[in-house]
Amino acid sequence: MSKKSFRVVVLPGDGIGPEVVAEAVKVLKALFEESPDVELKLETRLFGGCAIDETGEALPASTLQACKEADAILMGSIGGPKWGVNSKVRPEPGLLALRKALGVFANIRPTKFGSDSLVVNSPLKESITRGVDIFVVRELIGGIYFGERKEQDVAPQENVAWDTMIYSVEEVQRITRVAAQIALASDPPLPIHSVDKANVLASSRLWRKVVTETLESEYPQIKLDHQLVDSAAMLLVSSPRKLNGVVLTENLFGDILSDEASVIPGSLGLLPSASLAGAPSLPSSHSFKPTSGLYEPIHGSAPDIAGKGIANPIGTILSAALLLRYSLGLEKHAQLIESAVRKALDSKNAGGWELRTADLGGNIGTKEIGDRIVEILKTLL
Ligand code: ATP
Ligand code: MG
Repeated sequence: MSKKSFRVVVLPGDGIGPEVVAEAVKVLKALFEESPDVELKLETRLFGGCAIDETGEALPASTLQACKEADAILMGSIGGPKWGVNSKVRPEPGLLALRKALGVFANIRPTKFGSDSLVVNSPLKESITRGVDIFVVRELIGGIYFGERKEQDVAPQENVAWDTMIYSVEEVQRITRVAAQIALASDPPLPIHSVDKANVLASSRLWRKVVTETLESEYPQIKLDHQLVDSAAMLLVSSPRKLNGVVLTENLFGDILSDEASVIPGSLGLLPSASLAGAPSLPSSHSFKPTSGLYEPIHGSAPDIAGKGIANPIGTILSAALLLRYSLGLEKHAQLIESAVRKALDSKNAGGWELRTADLGGNIGTKEIGDRIVEILKTLL
């Protein structure tokens, strides 16, 4: 049998980005170094503040080209105080440009990976956080972040500024289908909780109608309910298990709710995300093979702890697992990484200490937890 070969572009980014990405790369290398049937070709490229310093641009053309040609992209976070709001060139527009150029309209954040030991540092009571298992599916390249806007300082005599929230039927349909595919990947299918503000917003009424029609006609086996965004925000902190399943929502609401959901396990450092393009348009196809995938931890570049070797790399390592699952179709390998992470979090070192980084109340470093995960992974291969 010939070896399958995949091209993965690695964008280490800024701040703690390079530190956490190095650990994920270490895990990927360990997983495939002796594999008889899979070869990963990793290519590192400049993106973000580091790219501005080297080339004057956050998203150099060569980086964009490599990303377009790759099977998947693994990314650290970008930005930091060095390239703040007053800088001529800033990293963040580069990220919006990259997402737009790749067409990654679906942002997926699982908020748990099976180990309730992850909730140790949760700000919510353990009794309500145990057993929480929510996938947030957020529309990423439409809505108010991309609608027409008017800045007040463009026309100071007019004392107003505005943004517009626009959604088309097609945009809502395609994100609904991604949510459906995520729901169907579980047996029995997960319920979908669609979140909107249909009692006030016209775009939300369209959202609700299209989500309902798409699921009823194409995926009748999936249970659907609708939540108003204010009530969903409340449920997430009062009884998050009620939202177990897939939380499907638009760009702005998803930005807020996914950050809120992300603190349930106890640290921003634990959670991965996937941003996908080209989801299935045929309801009958239950295979889920995006044409582009951008994988990154949900946290930022954390300049306050950069360079100290204490950042938690698990969100990035689990992002690498999502990359294998969604973009490369290597489900078994994805599960191996996830179980190695769970085992590492549940294990203790020779001194009897739990293996946790500072954000989880422990005292081990970025490399040490990465090494431990690799060690455990090797026993599972
Ligand atoms: P961004 O604007 O890029 O989203 P942010 O301002 O929201 O960034 P983060 O960079 O995510 O913030 O950091 C928020 C806090 O969480 C910081 O105190 C940071 O040190 C901590 N933090 C973030 N990621 C990690 C990590 N992987 N390990 C440990 N602590 C982290
Ligand atoms: Mg943030």
